[in-house]
Amino acid sequence: MNRSLRALTLIAVLAACEAPVYDTILRGGQVLDGTGSPAREADVAIRVGRVAAIGDLSRAEAEDTIDARGLYVSPGFIDTHSHAGPGLATAGLSHGEPLLAQGLTTVVVNPDGGGPVDLGEQRTALEEDGLGVNVAQLVPHGSIRERIVGREDRAPSGEELDRMRELVRAGMEAGAWGLSSGTFYTPGSYSENSELVELGRVVAGFGGFYTSHIRDESNYTIGVVAAVDEVIEVGREAGITAVVTHIKALGPPVWGASAEIVARIADARAEGLSIYADQYPYLASATGLSAALIPRWAEAGGGDAFRARVDDPGIRARIREAMVENLARRGGADRIQFRRFVADPSIEGRLLSELAAERGADPVDLSLELILQGGPSIVSFNMSEEDLLMLMTREWTMTSSDGDLPLFGVGVPHPRSYGAFARKIAKYVFEDEVMTLEAAIRSMTGLPAEVMGMTDRGTIAKGKVADLVVFSGDFRDNATFTEPHQLSSGVVHLFVNGEAAILDGEFTGTRAGRVLARGDR
Ligand SMILES: [Zn+2]
Repeated sequence: MNRSLRALTLIAVLAACEAPVYDTILRGGQVLDGTGSPAREADVAIRVGRVAAIGDLSRAEAEDTIDARGLYVSPGFIDTHSHAGPGLATAGLSHGEPLLAQGLTTVVVNPDGGGPVDLGEQRTALEEDGLGVNVAQLVPHGSIRERIVGREDRAPSGEELDRMRELVRAGMEAGAWGLSSGTFYTPGSYSENSELVELGRVVAGFGGFYTSHIRDESNYTIGVVAAVDEVIEVGREAGITAVVTHIKALGPPVWGASAEIVARIADARAEGLSIYADQYPYLASATGLSAALIPRWAEAGGGDAFRARVDDPGIRARIREAMVENLARRGGADRIQFRRFVADPSIEGRLLSELAAERGADPVDLSLELILQGGPSIVSFNMSEEDLLMLMTREWTMTSSDGDLPLFGVGVPHPRSYGAFARKIAKYVFEDEVMTLEAAIRSMTGLPAEVMGMTDRGTIAKGKVADLVVFSGDFRDNATFTEPHQLSSGVVHLFVNGEAAILDGEFTGTRAGRVLARGDR
């Protein structure tokens, strides 16, 4: 090719660039950009996995055009508290379809201080079979504490605390977005808050955040308000963004406490601290029967130590006494439903009160017996709608599911695993109108991205990664407490990293998700 011909070719290429051809254009949808700004009709163009243009693109061309008229176009949802990590690392579940059907494109795993200490290994396991959604990892405090201090009820020595710091640092260097704790659970509950402040400082040095299942969501020990104060203290002392995860007032004795919780967080924010919460939109929580009823002192030292205490009649009586109180705290045996019990699946889905009546047993004695057989997981109906709404409608409350990725049809899981994000929009926006669609979408997208420091996702803007969900006005959860294994419906199209995972309501089978490392762009 001679020089002038080459120049002409170059001019032709440049001319072609002026009228760009996009990979995909979503035409005419109501765009909710994730910032809380009012929805507006616009076209959204995707090129090479990113949002390339927004606005009137009627003259632009694309390989694929999607008619989004009459539909909403939102950033893909981010689940800030997900137990889907183990499921996503399982070959038959890594597609994450129950998550995609809720509009999720990113889930944050290793919550409550639990999950693997070695995040590099977890990343390999997650990516092995391809991921349907993106995954952001947290460093789990409880697992690190267990590695270094075991299940002992004591403070770490100075040298042990240094080793914990090293493991936290290693997790952050492996790409984690923050630190999770579960100071309600064993062994996290054996930590003084100062330990979390120390480890929070390490995470703050990386620009990460702290999220905690607080020490007490009820009136078990220090009380829910003091437990919220602990998170605020970590935020203040460690200079870190701190999140009260799945915020709630658990159990009739503390119903109404949301007003004081909100005041505490509002004061902290007014002080300039970076404090947030996340919430799932249900009046029932889920946990283990043991975590709900057994006092932490009885669990110190692990399973054998626990069984030895139960075998001692005097100690057993004290454990039983605490269990009676803890069951009352949760509103009684007809507010506990069995979720999964490997030793006897026939009890799954039934109420503790029903099973106790059928067996002519006292609910507390029956519970202890089941716990000694391995312990069922439970759904616990323990919240009030007033508290739920008070906490939901705060500008600093993100959306979460706290769900996992159940084997389809196995057990009777909490419906949040299939429906949390859809339910918030279907029930609380469309049906009850307690918040605007724009505010609900922000709580699922722009707000979590801001809290996590995830700068390239969470909003629809030129240059952002094309994680997009297109849903209809019929978006809804279908999972119930008795029939939970039902996908949400109403997501018409879903893009993960610019690749279609759902098109025209059908899964494409694409696994375009990846493990997102903090600092990657
Ligand atoms: Zn939790």
